[in-house]
Amino acid sequence: MIYLDNAATTRVRPEVRAAMEPFLDREYGNPSSLHAAGRRARRALEDARETAAAALGADPKELVFTSGATESNALAIAGVAEAQGGGHLVTTTIEHPSVLATFERLEKQGWKITRVPVDSAGLVDPARVAAAVTPKTALVSVMLVNNEVGTVQPLAAIRKAAPGVVIHTDAAQAIGKVPVNLRDADLVTFSAHKIHGPKGVGGLWIRKGTPIAAQLVGGGQEFERRAGTENVAGAVGLAAAMKLAAPGRMEELRERLRRGLGAPVAGSGAPHILNVAFEGVDGEAAILALDAAGVCISSGSACASGSTKPSHVLTAMGIPPDVVKSSVRFSLSMLTTDEDIDGALRIVPGVIDRLRKISPVTR
Ligand code: PMP
Repeated sequence: MIYLDNAATTRVRPEVRAAMEPFLDREYGNPSSLHAAGRRARRALEDARETAAAALGADPKELVFTSGATESNALAIAGVAEAQGGGHLVTTTIEHPSVLATFERLEKQGWKITRVPVDSAGLVDPARVAAAVTPKTALVSVMLVNNEVGTVQPLAAIRKAAPGVVIHTDAAQAIGKVPVNLRDADLVTFSAHKIHGPKGVGGLWIRKGTPIAAQLVGGGQEFERRAGTENVAGAVGLAAAMKLAAPGRMEELRERLRRGLGAPVAGSGAPHILNVAFEGVDGEAAILALDAAGVCISSGSACASGSTKPSHVLTAMGIPPDVVKSSVRFSLSMLTTDEDIDGALRIVPGVIDRLRKISPVTR
């Protein structure tokens, strides 16, 4: 199998698995327990927090472990809205569904939402953010790296355009791929399974002093910001994955894939994502045919595939519907090899040619 769907998820790397192993087995204490087993679990959890914080350049006290980027996004957006009030929020049209849906929910609850559009390159214009912000704006949420097309938003300029406003960024696709500068935000979302960590664990960095209301309440864990017995093994795995996350040769390999495929590309920026349109071929048909040939890729986002809805990201970039329909995403990780790219370049063009001949897309 040639796995080029690393933006959907990655395999747990051996070092991460080894770090987690004791906490899935003999070290099963609850970090809140007072006995020695509990204290060892607490120690492991706080060590993981320190390692993860160091990888981000953050203070460990500002880091909350969650069940992943979806929860981190919900906590950041709904949590700041609830704590801050104000009635108005700003986001963009190309966010991950977990962000889009959280804003839709707040909208139903009476919040006014401004969704800033993107240009044809998939970029947010900071001037548009400046124009959207009002004295009532509680939060601006702009993703750092888009999961479908890999565009990197100009977060520093966006922050400057909204002085004094709390800024959240979903950096789930950014960690280990592009620099994440904490100066550019007050809340940063991340997730372990995008960087060879386990699924179901992530974190939210919350700048000291940022108003935020817990969305899960109860036991008071995670500095009273996220109740629930901590996922010790998961946090240890997340920390190990963050420590090892680095771009490596992703960009070079991605470029070789891009040149070899020779198809038109949407977006760019982050080193791991290549969104291409195979003209005259249905994207879903391409994914299934490539799967049968041993190559795993996806449409824009794993969350959107399976649905017949065209990509909201490509659509927001003004890409015509027939091109959107023929778009697929290849995504790499730091463990992607030359052999993976060679294999893809050996297999993909033939499969696409065959599809073009047997099932021309009618326009
Ligand atoms: N945000 C972005 C940008 C993502 O790519 C993803 C994963 N598809 C998520 C959020 C959701 O992450 P998780 O699976 O950890 O909830």
